[in-house]
Amino acid sequence: MTTSGLYDGLPQPAGREPMTSATGLSAEELTGLRARARREAGPFVDPHVIRAVVPHTPAWASAILGRPYSGARSLTWPERYLLHIAAEAEPATPPAGGVADTGAGPSAELAAARKEREERRARAVTEWEEIRRRLPVAAEVRHNYTSHRHLGHYSQGGDHIYLPDGLTAGRLIRPARSVLCWTPSRARDLREFPEPAGDGRPPSCRACLRIARRLTTPPAAGSGTRVPSRAQLELLKHIARGYVVRVHHARAGWAIRLTTEQSRGRGGSLGRNVTTAARALLHGGWAREGGHDRRRGYVWHLTDAGSAHLSTSAEGTPARASRPSPPAPRAR
Ligand SMILES: [Zn+2]
Repeated sequence: MTTSGLYDGLPQPAGREPMTSATGLSAEELTGLRARARREAGPFVDPHVIRAVVPHTPAWASAILGRPYSGARSLTWPERYLLHIAAEAEPATPPAGGVADTGAGPSAELAAARKEREERRARAVTEWEEIRRRLPVAAEVRHNYTSHRHLGHYSQGGDHIYLPDGLTAGRLIRPARSVLCWTPSRARDLREFPEPAGDGRPPSCRACLRIARRLTTPPAAGSGTRVPSRAQLELLKHIARGYVVRVHHARAGWAIRLTTEQSRGRGGSLGRNVTTAARALLHGGWAREGGHDRRRGYVWHLTDAGSAHLSTSAEGTPARASRPSPPAPRAR
């Protein structure tokens, strides 16, 4: 990609290379940050951001802004926001004097810093993909825009884990269209998540990530490959037949239920509550929640590992089941 697009509508330094080399951020990263600033800065000034903006050097600020930087007073609000998120993306001060003056290519130091940044981002993206795969419900990354309407509530973790359908995991309950770090007391500051981040960025909210890791890290178990217990295999069979569904009950709320067995518990008419057992299967990597079925709710499915355990157990333990063996899992 070229750097010409970076300076759309902004004065370009005449007769020399763009001053991007005063920063270790690549042209692509700068384009992304500027797009974010345009989108996220919002119409209202946030005093927390204003106080937080400290450009590393004037040359660095010029490179980020794409125009000569002449002091904080000359900055517009979106420019301040841009410097703020750029400093978050590049927290280390570039080498003194930068490299713009020498006209040379990026220094080894800058290249190393860039490489480290790219690696850190790649690790974060990989971790997020893994978390998303393991979460029992759909999740996406969304930026919190509420802060722009509430001065003084800016949070550094601007990109949260958003739950379109909500989540129930033990005592942790999140309503639909909320974020993982949502709490009743913070609800006022966590209201506006208009669209998913389209650029594949991982979540930045530490609270969201902490909870997500806790939910998706398998409980410490004995070493070696774990194998589902007999009871877990039974539940896997029910899942294979499509009998396990996460449904909402007016009084009992969301729960994962085995629809072929009723119970006397709350919402038992919808099926026996197997939320905890299903979560254990999820942690084992044997089952996961699928898409929403309008009539039934969120139907659970086997993972490849779950199917494998089920077929080996069916072959390995003939005639041990007290009940007649159930039909083979339907191919999906
Ligand atoms: Zn969050």
